[in-house]
Amino acid sequence: MAAESGYHLLVPTYSSSFNTCFYCGCIAAEFDYAPPVQYRDFYLATKEASEFLKIPTCGECHEHLKACKAGTLEERRTFAKDKLAKKYAKALTIYEMWSENELNDLDFSLRHSIEAGLTLGEETTERLRYPGFDYEAAEHQQSVPYNTPKYFEVFGDQFTTFREALDFASKAYRIPKNTLKEYFADNNNSFEEAIHAIHKEVAEKEFTKQLKTLCNAFAKKHKQPIIFVHKQVERYLSENEEMTIPEALEHLFLTRVMPQQKIIKG
Ligand SMILES: [Zn+2]
Repeated sequence: MAAESGYHLLVPTYSSSFNTCFYCGCIAAEFDYAPPVQYRDFYLATKEASEFLKIPTCGECHEHLKACKAGTLEERRTFAKDKLAKKYAKALTIYEMWSENELNDLDFSLRHSIEAGLTLGEETTERLRYPGFDYEAAEHQQSVPYNTPKYFEVFGDQFTTFREALDFASKAYRIPKNTLKEYFADNNNSFEEAIHAIHKEVAEKEFTKQLKTLCNAFAKKHKQPIIFVHKQVERYLSENEEMTIPEALEHLFLTRVMPQQKIIKG
């Protein structure tokens, strides 16, 4: 994969740590990247903290770290440990609460499940305590050919650093910095695309909320099944992009509800 060029492999100083997950000490089967390869351009462009390391990782930590966008080893280590602790929270509690000699009084099935919890809890505790290994990695200098942008643009305003641009955009568009940063990284390193994406999401949420409120009120008022009202309104809206929710409800009333009432009233 050409995209991973420029990353430095974390090589254990001592052979006893070869093929070991840096995060938890299990057998390594994969590599983790700090920062993740898909966010490489984001880190290169913004100069946000990142180390460009390729880290031996076990399958489980690798899976957990797929959700982590952080650029440094330390941040990724904290993320991986948190995930492990959450995943095995039950076993960890058993390990803290019970000891082997308390098991004799229990009936077979309970004893069996507590024993399993104790083993898993002990193993997880060791993984959480694992301090990582001594390593050598080549100088953390970027050897990646990359044209750092001369400035960052926020709808026409130009800034020389990412920080200034983020600060400005966050205040101007009232979007928390962390949210904006994530959307920036996920939207082609563009403030414009990031802000559009956020606004679109907010508008969609608002629309869904409105749809629900109005349809439910209509269903109640005209004694119609809620699902029927929702389905019809959604159909009208998909057939006619110009139509608003109140217009769709009006249409539903005239074409379906009113004729129904006439029949009933005879
Ligand atoms: Zn691991």
